[in-house]
Amino acid sequence: MPPGRLRSLLVVAPHPDDETIAAHALMSRLRRRGVIVRVLVVSDGAASHPNSARWPRRRLTRERQHETRRAMRRIGVNADAITFLGLPDGRLADHASSVSRLVARAARALPVPSLVLAPSADDAHPDHRVVSAAVRQQAGVRWWSYPVWPAGQRLRGAKPLALTAQERLAKRHALRGYRTQAGCITDDPNGFALTARQIPAFCGPRELFAAAGGR
Ligand SMILES: [Zn+2]
Repeated sequence: MPPGRLRSLLVVAPHPDDETIAAHALMSRLRRRGVIVRVLVVSDGAASHPNSARWPRRRLTRERQHETRRAMRRIGVNADAITFLGLPDGRLADHASSVSRLVARAARALPVPSLVLAPSADDAHPDHRVVSAAVRQQAGVRWWSYPVWPAGQRLRGAKPLALTAQERLAKRHALRGYRTQAGCITDDPNGFALTARQIPAFCGPRELFAAAGGR
């Protein structure tokens, strides 16, 4: 797991909730050790329910930010450590150069020694692969990858962080707290909701990280 002398961690999340799926327990442990933890949420998350009349884009974006802030606050990551880039959900490939530039800026601002977490290059979601590529391009940045889609996928060569029962419970609770993604929006037949299988798949007995590169 991260070396004892780590000063900061940056979790780069394509959508508001990926930070919790990826590294809820890791962030929580590092905060208790006094490590600086920052979260960079790349997209606005507004594509999860494009046709909801009750949840138009602005309302949904605001609520999703609120969900991330609330979950992070509970593990000691305050609002000022979270940056929302607000790029269009589902279309990050059209904004790859902005993603790369803004990820670079956030990575450069980290007190060293630092570690950056980004999605796996093999993730099934195109937005995730754009973010992965953006982090991969950064010279001199030490980074690890994490798996998201498909839920429960393995990551070749990954080091597991074994979660305690309490950490698993806390993570499950945190993930359910992203209510816009857990079925609370019901007026969009094409809307996204984590299924009853996906939540446990994301709250398994371990968080997986593959050391990917950098110094
Ligand atoms: Zn995502």
